[in-house]
Amino acid sequence: MIQSNYFADNPDLQDHVERFVDWQEMIGLYEDGFRDAQEYKATGNERLSMAPSTNEEALAYYHQMLDAYGDMCGNELSQLAAPMDRIGLKFENGKVTHPAEIEKLFEKFDDAGLRPIAFQKKYGGLGVPNVLKALCQEMSYRADGALSITCGSVNLAAILEAYASKEMRDEWIPKLIHERYSVTMGLSEADFGSDLPSVRTRAEKIDGKWYLTGTKRFQTMACGLNKYPAVLLALARTGAPDSGARGLSFFLVDSKDFEVTGIEKKLGIKASPTCEVAFEKAPGLLIGEEGHGLSRYVIGMLNGARLSVASQGTGIATAAWYEARKYASERIQFGKPIDQIPAVAKMLRRMERESKAMRCLMVEAASAVDRYHWKALRAIDSDEKTKKDDFGRKWEKLASTITPMAKYYISEMANSVAYDAIQVFGGAGFIEEYDVARLYRDARITNIYDGTTQIQVNAAIGGVVSGMAETGGLRAHLQEMLDLVAKGESSRAAILKELFAEFESLVSHFKTLEGAKKDSFAFEVVETATRTLNSLLLAKTSLKLTGTAREERFQLTHEYAVESLGTAQASKLRMTR
Ligand SMILES: Cc1cc2nc3c(=O)[nH]c(=O)nc-3n(C[C@H](O)[C@H](O)[C@H](O)COP(=O)(O)OP(=O)(O)OC[C@H]3O[C@@H](n4cnc5c(N)ncnc54)[C@H](O)[C@@H]3O)c2cc1C
Repeated sequence: MIQSNYFADNPDLQDHVERFVDWQEMIGLYEDGFRDAQEYKATGNERLSMAPSTNEEALAYYHQMLDAYGDMCGNELSQLAAPMDRIGLKFENGKVTHPAEIEKLFEKFDDAGLRPIAFQKKYGGLGVPNVLKALCQEMSYRADGALSITCGSVNLAAILEAYASKEMRDEWIPKLIHERYSVTMGLSEADFGSDLPSVRTRAEKIDGKWYLTGTKRFQTMACGLNKYPAVLLALARTGAPDSGARGLSFFLVDSKDFEVTGIEKKLGIKASPTCEVAFEKAPGLLIGEEGHGLSRYVIGMLNGARLSVASQGTGIATAAWYEARKYASERIQFGKPIDQIPAVAKMLRRMERESKAMRCLMVEAASAVDRYHWKALRAIDSDEKTKKDDFGRKWEKLASTITPMAKYYISEMANSVAYDAIQVFGGAGFIEEYDVARLYRDARITNIYDGTTQIQVNAAIGGVVSGMAETGGLRAHLQEMLDLVAKGESSRAAILKELFAEFESLVSHFKTLEGAKKDSFAFEVVETATRTLNSLLLAKTSLKLTGTAREERFQLTHEYAVESLGTAQASKLRMTR
């Protein structure tokens, strides 16, 4: 893997940080009048000692974090990706062993303070908005998927901030961070993966305490890391066997109370343990209220995990594009570097376009969550009843559509970009000695776990169709961006208007379909919705640039929008013939 600071060597990522993200807005949403800094002054709580007290301090803190992530991921984590993938993990006598190099990396990552990125400072976390977390995680996933999960799984427990009792939050979040726990989503069972409402693991209450019995499959990091423990955030049935989603509750179970019975041999992310777990009356701590396990808490956790997969896909695509670009500039065929051969240049250009579109979409999804999440969390913390204002309601709704769109699109495109990277390498791409073969294998899980592409489409389609109604939120959001581009650079808006009209027409046709045919075309509608959104995001960000950089980004936007229009037209043809 290319060894460098992954922040410093990525001009597009830097453009997002320096020009595209509205930090004034994001800092306002997250810091809320710099409450943490004020509390530090008042109480001297050491966890808040790094809290910024001005926009400038917040920005300096974010820059410092991006640079530290870029350095650790690009110079250290990336260099272990290939050897750890080759060595893999061992399972013997009921115990999973990670190579010593992984344990050392994990400790180094933790010592540098980079692990608890999703938590607020008051619990010992880094305390940053989702948009910054997304950009940092992208760099880590660019370096390696398996090792990123190992170093960062604790962040799944951020769901406790929203739904656990105050006592549980105050006890468990700092413990998970400081005692170097790994955290696992304890959802899937052998018979139920997408069909989570049917899971069978049972929880029963005996003398006021809960105990879980059953088995969970595909449990990432459930074994912890060598001497460091894990917890499972497990979905289990507290209602009758046929109680469906409403009979499911959510529990925290410590790894000292369950057995890891094996690990899977996999196509990719081989340095990440995928465990089978057995509970035999394992003590579990109830999170939140009984019966809301799936409908509120797991959906909340999955939304966070989907943002992380969006970062993973963007990171993989960036790695694949950078590796391919480097190779193509060095590989000589017919007397010239292959990047000068039009067919190869075309593949590289598509990889660039997709990587940049993916980053826009990742940032868009994370910002959408930032626009409602922190205010809602503060209301819980202050024990006030959550009062959602119009702004929060609007963004919560939009985020519930954009997050699955981002997870679906970015994971599918990561596969496609990794596929092209192998093609650019030719035969060398098929050989494990080069990194693109591993990237291709590792990309394959992104559109499966945390809900497959088909499940993301199911999650997004309702919001896309209702959002495109006359007064729908998605329509208004897209129209606002279109107007902005038309005002800022009218000649560039024509193709975007055409694409928007084609998307409207596709939705109208879709609404006339019925039954299985309608279900089968949901993908095409969500695909065009995502491509329209991405085209507008690319155009909107182009407006923030000047000179040649602006020209170049508008040109890339044009190419992306033309390709999207072609996709939309082909979809309509299939839908209407
Ligand atoms: C490496 C790895 C790590 C994982 N880590 C974890 C983890 O840490 N915790 C955890 O709980 N799980 C984990 N999983 C499980 C993962 O989330 C599931 O594999 C995934 O959700 C799909 O479920 P399934 O494998 O049972 O496939 P199935 O649900 O059997 O799906 C098979 C096919 O049917 C399609 N399908 C199913 N239902 C529908 C529907 N309603 N509409 C349209 N299409 C549908 C799917 O899209 C897919 O194409 C992991 C899996 C792997 C491979």
